[in-house]
Amino acid sequence: MVKIPMFDSHAHVASGQFDLDRPAVIERARVAGVDGWLEVASTAAGSRRAVELAEQLEGTLATVGVHPEEINAMQEEDWQLLDELAGSEKVVAIGEVGLDFHREGTYEKQIEYVKKFVDLAIKHNKPIIWHIRSSQQLDANELLLDYLRHCPLPGRLRGIAHTFSGTVEQAQRYVELGMYLGISGVVTFKNAGVLLDVVKAIDLEYLLIETDSPYLAPDPYRGQRNEPAYVRFVAQKVAQLKEVTIKEVEKVTYCNWQKLIVSQKV
Ligand SMILES: [Zn+2]
Repeated sequence: MVKIPMFDSHAHVASGQFDLDRPAVIERARVAGVDGWLEVASTAAGSRRAVELAEQLEGTLATVGVHPEEINAMQEEDWQLLDELAGSEKVVAIGEVGLDFHREGTYEKQIEYVKKFVDLAIKHNKPIIWHIRSSQQLDANELLLDYLRHCPLPGRLRGIAHTFSGTVEQAQRYVELGMYLGISGVVTFKNAGVLLDVVKAIDLEYLLIETDSPYLAPDPYRGQRNEPAYVRFVAQKVAQLKEVTIKEVEKVTYCNWQKLIVSQKV
């Protein structure tokens, strides 16, 4: 029987939080059957680290990009570095980029940078890993959906709404735009709320599983440092909500991931 691997579609193993025991974390992922993960960058310097880590690990891939809360620290020359790194063989996506309205200010600049990162993604023909976080007053999903509806990504260039946290209706609109929804450990929390409805309502064919390590550890590790091995708890919860086996979730989400990546190469 062919063994179906699991793939964590969003992790930050290059984070300083893993400096003391990174090899052990990587080994635990392997033992747990996690074939690899997408090593997601949040800064320009972090993009270089993400590529370097992915180059050392078979099955692990990388992104380049700058998190919306980090764009103020960006220098003009960082664009050149991102552009160069985006051409690396291990880089399969641009991210995590997007909108984070949790803190005051910088909204206009964030929107301006969304456009710049879309240009970078188009230039390199890579999907985008979107970080989307709303504030009480401002719904970041609405803003991004509106932007994508008016400026759809060309061809098969798609992306992932990572750690999706919108409504069922917004989830459907992302899917209509050709996006995948990244389901994180939040789905295992007691207060997962509407995310449970989203997972039930959206076809498994449009879902991906992720950890966002070292953040958002799923139950039973909530509050502790997260790691790629724990992606199985997300798979388990998705399986329970979809009333299918964990194997089925692993298989379909792995294929979804392959489809997203391979579609860029043809
Ligand atoms: Zn992340």
